[in-house]
Amino acid sequence: MLAVSKTFPAEAVRAVHALGQRVFGENYVQEAVAKQRGLADLPGIEWRLIGPLQGNKARLAATHFDWVETVDREDLARRLSAARAETGRDLDVLVQVNVSGEATKHGIAPREVVGLARAVSALPRLALRGIMGIPDPAADAGALRGQFRRLRECFEACRDAGLACDTLSMGMSADLELAIAEGATEVRIGSAIFGARPRPAPAARASA
Ligand SMILES: *Cc1c(COP(=O)(O)O)cnc(C)c1O
Repeated sequence: MLAVSKTFPAEAVRAVHALGQRVFGENYVQEAVAKQRGLADLPGIEWRLIGPLQGNKARLAATHFDWVETVDREDLARRLSAARAETGRDLDVLVQVNVSGEATKHGIAPREVVGLARAVSALPRLALRGIMGIPDPAADAGALRGQFRRLRECFEACRDAGLACDTLSMGMSADLELAIAEGATEVRIGSAIFGARPRPAPAARASA
């Protein structure tokens, strides 16, 4: 379980960490970097980026996160690879897949997933771990299940292609049971842990 702490202050992360949670997700690079500064003393904490990433923030992301779950193009993977330190752990990466069609512009088309996953796995200092997706939140239960199923098919296609994937990140507070039933290995839970989010200011939304 990834605890999604976007928009919540460092003290909220500290409280959830005290309960034993170690893995936290953030959507906006700069917000996360500011938050991390106040939490450097927390043992074992791990940060994963789950928001869309602009190329010009790849360096900051590669140096402040343990995972980036939103790699949806090769040039972004190349930037992350180049920015990750030569020493130390590889950056864990998920390929983000768009299974909702027109509903979001982020994520690669399902038919292109294996190609991008192969390219990512060939880059130095990146460790391909699997697939991430965000289904259309307006979908009814049947359509939602279909989108989770397509994500799992992408995940299995990568494994069938010989890529060492172990992570299928899908499901949020409102649909985690369905996601798990369809094979999620990671659910990203925000409001069910931290409570309702204040609406982000337009400026914060404009970029990750
Ligand atoms: C905000 C967010 C979540 C968590 O959503 P909740 O509905 O609050 O659980 C999960 N994944 C992504 C990509 C998000 O942006």
